[in-house]
Amino acid sequence: MKQQIRQIISKAVREHSLSRDDIILILSCENSHDYELFQAADSVRRQYVGDAVHLRGIIEFSNYCSRNCLYCGLRCANKNLRRYRMDADAIYKAAASAVSIGYRTIVLQSGEDSTYDADAIADICRRLKKLGVAVTLSLGERPYEEYRLWHKAGADRYLIKHETADPELYKKLHPGKTLASRIDCLRQLSELGYQVGSGCMVGLPGQTIETLADDLLLLKELDVEMAGIGPFIPHPSTPLAEYPPGPVDMTLKMLAVARLLLPLAHLPATTALFTIAGDGRERALCSGANVVMPNVTPSEYKNLYEIYPNKSRAEKTMPVAGRRQLENMITALGRTVAGDQGHSPKRKFSRAVS
Ligand code: SAM
Ligand code: SF4
Repeated sequence: MKQQIRQIISKAVREHSLSRDDIILILSCENSHDYELFQAADSVRRQYVGDAVHLRGIIEFSNYCSRNCLYCGLRCANKNLRRYRMDADAIYKAAASAVSIGYRTIVLQSGEDSTYDADAIADICRRLKKLGVAVTLSLGERPYEEYRLWHKAGADRYLIKHETADPELYKKLHPGKTLASRIDCLRQLSELGYQVGSGCMVGLPGQTIETLADDLLLLKELDVEMAGIGPFIPHPSTPLAEYPPGPVDMTLKMLAVARLLLPLAHLPATTALFTIAGDGRERALCSGANVVMPNVTPSEYKNLYEIYPNKSRAEKTMPVAGRRQLENMITALGRTVAGDQGHSPKRKFSRAVS
């Protein structure tokens, strides 16, 4: 068994592909092999994307959401949450302030909030591009024409996780929605020229090792530029309040296998992992991750974007001090902080922004 796992890992290091059975075997094997897996992922990370860690400043500009995902504190049925929206000027100001302390990518994230119409988002993209940054959007499922308009307005990347590759589980967790339409969005975004990010949660109620293997195979099939893999964290005001959080070790294993399968992808050390494990960022950075997404939302809104509990506690440091702490942590790992916009090494960019 030991020898077999070792052989599977070294084959993945060479070929960046794994069968479903091999992934299941790696994910279900004893802890004694984790170290070898993490080391292998770390060496593939170093070889393909180098030692630089990309810092993306995330602005969570609205916690209104029309969807009702069972796991998320922003779901529309949660009446225990004070809702907020930032206007275009406030978003611009937060982004300019993040740029002034060194961020070269701004991620705009929100619930599915159609109050911001297509033109409003396009205007915000155009304004942010003038700050000389890469712009990532994470606004959920929107019509193709809107994605097209925003890409023309300068949006470089789009993050929309598939959440789980099990269509039945997806349906249960997302009332009235389907995995197929989520995947359609991912394909449309890629076709439009976005650098696309997907990903999944680990430890969702009803998830199995087989489902997790399918998550990784779906990421590989979609050939995503980014993959966010983080633990599920139960929120007390949701129907999943009583379930346990996703396991840290399984999250790290998923991340490491994702690095073996997608050597050129940007893989974040997620805030969710950091929220449930104080050393989660460091451990993720040593298991294949090369991105961190610090929160640069103005402090009056930070604790209202409560997708899961204790998120704002994990993000409590103010932007300047937080960035300094992060830079020190990255340097202590023998890594560097990237100074560029951190586009996907998979794609070359040269396009006019209209
Ligand atoms: N509304 C957009 C969407 O769903 O794509 C973007 C915002 S949503 C809050 C961003 C991510 O938060 C989701 O993709 C989901 O994976 C994550 N999330 C939500 N609730 C969570 C929970 N309870 N535990 C861990 N991650 C969660
Ligand atoms: Fe809304 Fe996104 Fe939360 Fe689902 S995960 S309820 S779409 S904010």
